[in-house]
Amino acid sequence: MLNIVLFGPPGAGKGTQSERLREEYDLVHISTGDVFRALDPTSELAKLAKSYSVKGNLVPDNITIQILEGEVSKHPEALGVIYDGFPRTTGQAEALDKFLESKDTAVKTMISLVVPEDELKTRLIARAEVSGRADDADSEIIQNRINTYKKSTAPVANFYKAQDKLIEIDGVGSIDEITGRIFNAIETIK
Ligand code: ADP
Repeated sequence: MLNIVLFGPPGAGKGTQSERLREEYDLVHISTGDVFRALDPTSELAKLAKSYSVKGNLVPDNITIQILEGEVSKHPEALGVIYDGFPRTTGQAEALDKFLESKDTAVKTMISLVVPEDELKTRLIARAEVSGRADDADSEIIQNRINTYKKSTAPVANFYKAQDKLIEIDGVGSIDEITGRIFNAIETIK
């Protein structure tokens, strides 16, 4: 299985590039952010997840891991999965390794999109116009998401680096240019 973790701060372009990857390699794309937003808004789970995400905080690991495993299990025939927005903590990364091991597979690579902080803020503010997401519309919440990324999520790259699976990609340029860089990187490890 071609299991790819697509990594990077909020606004790095993970969702856009995930769609390109999905089409090119016939993979399943799982975005935990999208899964949380698609929950029945009247359910207790949705309300709980939203109580964290609206403030730009992470949903607790136990909930997120359960949700992720449920999503992966919906696609037993998948040729591979793009993990977008997961793992976001070292605990989630450890859980993913164990989960994939139980399925006799593993993460093949982590593609990390590198984008400077100023550019992220500009992109998120622009995205708010179209996404309608409350967490994109407020500069304090954006800053909290970036700070949460630095504190809790950035260390996840070291987890995969230690396994020799980290590939860093320059995430600044046109969408096509960045897609090209990612495809080239994947061809070297396939
Ligand atoms: P972005 O990458 O633009 O910040 P996402 O759509 O990936 O946005 O996620 C939106 C929100 O959903 C996050 O700010 C967080 O509250 C929650 N979330 C998504 N994925 C995870 C995760 N793996 N662990 C914890 N919380 C998550």
